[in-house]
Amino acid sequence: MTDIIQLLPDHVANQIAAGEVVQRPASVVKELLENAIDAGATEIKLIIKDAGKTLVQVIDNGKGMSVTDARLSFERHATSKIKSAEDLFQLNTKGFRGEALASIAAIAHVELKTKRPEDELGTAIEIEGSTVKSQEVSVTPSGTSVAVKNLFFNIPARRNFLKSDTVELRHITDEFHRVALAHPNIAFVFYHNGSDLFNVTSENYRQRVVHIFGTKTNEKLVPVEEETEVLKISGFVGKPEFSKKTKSEQFFFVNQRFIKSPYLNHAINAAFEGLLKDGYHPSYFLNLTVDPKTIDINIHPTKTEIKFDDEHTLYAILRSAVKHSLGQFNIAPILDFEQQSNFNTPYNYKDKTASSPAIEVDSDFNPFSEGANGSRKQSTSFKQAPADSWEGLYVGLESKSNNSESDFSQVTFESDAKNESMFTDSSIETTKTTFQLQQKYIVSTLKSGMLVIDQNRAHQRILYESFLKHITIKEATSQQLLFPLQLHFTPNETKIIDGLKLDLEHTGFVFSELNDKEITITGVPVGVPESEVSIILEQLISDVENEVPDANFSVADLLAKSMAKSLAIKNGQSLNSTEQEHMVNSLFACKEPNVSPTNRPTFITMAVGDIEKKFM
Ligand code: ADP
Ligand code: MG
Repeated sequence: MTDIIQLLPDHVANQIAAGEVVQRPASVVKELLENAIDAGATEIKLIIKDAGKTLVQVIDNGKGMSVTDARLSFERHATSKIKSAEDLFQLNTKGFRGEALASIAAIAHVELKTKRPEDELGTAIEIEGSTVKSQEVSVTPSGTSVAVKNLFFNIPARRNFLKSDTVELRHITDEFHRVALAHPNIAFVFYHNGSDLFNVTSENYRQRVVHIFGTKTNEKLVPVEEETEVLKISGFVGKPEFSKKTKSEQFFFVNQRFIKSPYLNHAINAAFEGLLKDGYHPSYFLNLTVDPKTIDINIHPTKTEIKFDDEHTLYAILRSAVKHSLGQFNIAPILDFEQQSNFNTPYNYKDKTASSPAIEVDSDFNPFSEGANGSRKQSTSFKQAPADSWEGLYVGLESKSNNSESDFSQVTFESDAKNESMFTDSSIETTKTTFQLQQKYIVSTLKSGMLVIDQNRAHQRILYESFLKHITIKEATSQQLLFPLQLHFTPNETKIIDGLKLDLEHTGFVFSELNDKEITITGVPVGVPESEVSIILEQLISDVENEVPDANFSVADLLAKSMAKSLAIKNGQSLNSTEQEHMVNSLFACKEPNVSPTNRPTFITMAVGDIEKKFM
């Protein structure tokens, strides 16, 4: 038999390697920005077209390359940044593998122009799919420009895999933010399709954070500074009352490199312990400086995890530094979040003349009216009574309107002595159709056994279908606010809201102002409490940011899901019998009662047969 092993030709090897380095346009952005920084640039321009699918270009004023280096830079494992294996432990640069340019050139059309300050003339090179198309002497400013066009032109599968422009641009913006935050002393300009999204000169760290996350950020920053032998910390954490539902403002930089570290994140959370409402995340923008010898970043070309030699010590220092800052700036006393819940949503009375509120009434609204206890936040209207088809499932429905005396929901199961009614035979069927278990489940009897409904998921389903209906038929009832509600978001977040404006209006939101500095809302969907508005929008932003599937991505669907998630009755909420019944009825009046909007089961049933088996 003949030998069968062959060496892969370079261009094939490069294409394979490219798969690791370049997943999407944002990966190219990251690599090119990092090269510019490694080249000592003080001004960097990022130019994007069509979310990077058509063009990603980075222009820097760094040290440039000689003719030979320019050509060599596209070879695999060609790097000026390390010379020996030891250098790996002393890394002060972002790159060191010498793979990025080779990989990018394997899967795109690349035009490089570069000139060293000391040279008269520069070099221009064009490469397409690893093949050099031209190389010439060029008149060009000092520094380097790399233009990457038609990414994945030779790998259609990859190209088709790219998400919508909105999603790809968001990934690019995220990468850009990370780099810009890590290097406040560098001036950046960022253009997308001709308009500038970002334009900052060299500035201090606080200014950079504020430029990226909006002017409102300034007042919420608490400085953190600490210097020990093993670790230097500088940066900011956000005051607890400005904590967010999303993790979009959490940044660790280690030696000016963005990293993710669940472990160190935990240290921050520990420092904030007792200061945050459930489900809220602190903001932080922290720069850690450690000896390069004590970290290992060589795990994966695109991963943001790194290994520390002594994580435990870092954890302890970080936690105590943050705690100290929070204490020093007297943050701790502001503990009562319920009373401070309007903190983020200042009214703008000053220049406004009071107008009498015109409140439209939705006749569909006011669901569990009769017994609704005031403490529960009311949500949008439930659907009408149950469809006949499923009523047959129930026993004892006919008696649902009375007998609130023996209300099961008020009976705490585990410890209660006076719940004899449980044992008086057939009392359940004749007096009561539902009861609440652990303030989490609604339990009901079925002809064939038992039904257990997850109240939160069920309510999400109900709200979801109702919102979706309103959005698609573009008809919703809005409730005018007494005072316009002014909210502040980062420019990036405002952009997301702007993109969803029409759909939000179809659910009942009314915007009087929507620019990159502020959002003013004058109307909200009927049933949405004013205090929930900022939470809904934050939830929505985080959902959009984390949205994964693209092919069948629908804004309306996402919005409906997100609002349903924010407004649905939570676990731990006690419901009276009318409310429970309403929930059951409304659930089964849904088109898809079986699953929550996120496809998780809303209820389970247990047949009598199953119960019998348990007694065997
Ligand atoms: P790495 O950054 O890991 O060294 P790259 O493929 O990204 O690998 O770049 C290869 C080499 O090309 C770099 O080591 C550097 O010498 C040179 N280079 C790349 N981009 C620039 C730039 N913008 N300015 C100057 N030199 C650059
Ligand atoms: Mg590089």
